[in-house]
Amino acid sequence: MQILVTNDDGIAAPGIKALAEALHSLGNVTVVAPDRERSAAGHSLTLHAPLRVFELRPGWFAVDGTPTDCVNMGIHSLLNTRPDLVVSGINHGGNMGDDITYSGTVAAAMEANLMGIPAIAISLATHTPSERFPDAARVALQVATALTQQQLPEDTFLNVNVPNLPFEQIGPPQITRQGRRSFVGTIIDKVDPRGRKYFWIGSEEPRLLDDEGTDFHAVGQGNVSITPLHLDLTNYRSMAALRQWPLITG
Ligand code: MN
Repeated sequence: MQILVTNDDGIAAPGIKALAEALHSLGNVTVVAPDRERSAAGHSLTLHAPLRVFELRPGWFAVDGTPTDCVNMGIHSLLNTRPDLVVSGINHGGNMGDDITYSGTVAAAMEANLMGIPAIAISLATHTPSERFPDAARVALQVATALTQQQLPEDTFLNVNVPNLPFEQIGPPQITRQGRRSFVGTIIDKVDPRGRKYFWIGSEEPRLLDDEGTDFHAVGQGNVSITPLHLDLTNYRSMAALRQWPLITG
């Protein structure tokens, strides 16, 4: 089995190392990852600049592009055969609720799914320094193994979030839906050493809408959350109402 591993924290991040090591027992792992942190790159694709690839060691390729670029490079150029599975992560920080459209980790799995390849995004739900990546990598191996043994609808990929706990203390996986968070955005506004103003997008502690059944709730309870995702953002519930607009009915 051929497995492509990528991330958005960059090829030097501890999460991708733990992930690649854990997945070795499942197949032949090739790492194609950004050469630096590209968190919050979303589904960005580099179209107006060339991409450079550096093979750091056998099977480990750094690309000066986004996670989506890495999936494209891996599948269409660097791997000799089409991968059977793409796993993105392990991200340092949860990718839950509304945050997932910013996420390069999730977008990489989405890109693989668009190409018809089974894909998993996996994140460790903490923003503090953590030693728990090998623990989360054991969860990644469990989910990856299950995915290779089961069938999912073609348009579906998995978004997995793991609590920051020792493996033995992590609760069983819960199938979840996206929660919401009410994001209290702040722009930090300062002056640089040259006397010019600069701005930095910050955030205060988000207020989570973590009802039972959501990703936030499951991880908050110490369980693994597995949310099946697809790219179709259509709001089907609104289509009938929109068809009644005078604009449409004349
Ligand atoms: Mn990241």
